[in-house]
Amino acid sequence: MNGKTILQTMKPYKPGKQIEDVKKEYGLNKIVKLASNENPFGYSPQVKEAITDISTHLELYPDGYATELREALVNQLNVKPDQLVFGSGSDEVIAILCQAFLESGTNTITATPTFPQYKHNALIQGADVKEVPVVNGYHDLDAMLNEIDENTKIVWLCTPNNPTGTLIEEASLIDFMERCPSDVLVVVDEAYYEYVRPEDAPDSIKAIETYPNLVVLRTFSKAYGLAALRVGYGVATETIANLLNIVRGPFNTTSIAQKAALIALEDQQFLQDTVKQTLANKKKFMEFLDRMGLTYYDSATNFVFVNLPVTGDELFEHLLTKGFIVRSGEALGHPKGARITIGHEEDMKLLQDLIEAYLTPAV
Ligand code: PMP
Repeated sequence: MNGKTILQTMKPYKPGKQIEDVKKEYGLNKIVKLASNENPFGYSPQVKEAITDISTHLELYPDGYATELREALVNQLNVKPDQLVFGSGSDEVIAILCQAFLESGTNTITATPTFPQYKHNALIQGADVKEVPVVNGYHDLDAMLNEIDENTKIVWLCTPNNPTGTLIEEASLIDFMERCPSDVLVVVDEAYYEYVRPEDAPDSIKAIETYPNLVVLRTFSKAYGLAALRVGYGVATETIANLLNIVRGPFNTTSIAQKAALIALEDQQFLQDTVKQTLANKKKFMEFLDRMGLTYYDSATNFVFVNLPVTGDELFEHLLTKGFIVRSGEALGHPKGARITIGHEEDMKLLQDLIEAYLTPAV
């Protein structure tokens, strides 16, 4: 009863420290979690009311087609209804893509470091994974193209890239699509799309018209602040979306999650306010890092990957005792670094003081 052979070499996803555990362990009242790129400003206040209302019908199956949410996105993104596939987070859309396109004898290409779920799901499908190191935190697009062979089915472009935060600009994306064989799927994971300044963001969804092998992933977990509810989606041609919808479970997003996502989507003011505040706080944090002489990758999003003179684990352990949870670079393939999500202004000030005191040698 060992399951597939590949599973013997793999481990289940280990979530980071939970707020309640840290509270208990260190006897602290307040914990600031800056480890998972969540939105510290929460979510639209209108969501709460809407989901309380819908939760009176828990006996009914959800609308498996997510009709209302679909309509709202069709209008916002200017796509056809059947170009969309919803998932329990974009995590699930990644899994669905792997189920639909990968099997033993095929391969897939990712950057490294990048979001680990591409590799994880590809391995489960028995596919080979070719990992191409980032350069200064950026995807090495030429090297990724060079890795494509006749068995390559999917190339993953994570932009902004988790954990480095770097963006693939429109010209680079288009150039990549021009040079990529049209029978290789290119999945552009834009989980952090809303944090990217509009003038910098490629119009990747529009590009699907020109490049039918392009798939775009987005989520309500990050800037929309609904990580707990698990709603993400993919945009593709109708042909590809149809394949993905065949693989998808029939009721894979709950009614509460669909409703919350719809309301969150309608409250663009809340989204814009939190994004603006996050980017302002990021600027100040980067200025602090500059003053400290600490280098970091060029982040287009709500987190910064900082290079450290100590290990990420050391900084992580120290900050934990002070009530801050950050993400050590250890598990992200970069031991002397940490990925820090941008939080509230007052929390960031405190964090900066703690980092400064920890890294400045006592005289
Ligand atoms: N893609 C990237 C790049 C991410 O960072 C994350 C979350 N950490 C996801 C996808 C998955 O997000 P979700 O499943 O919550 O939509």
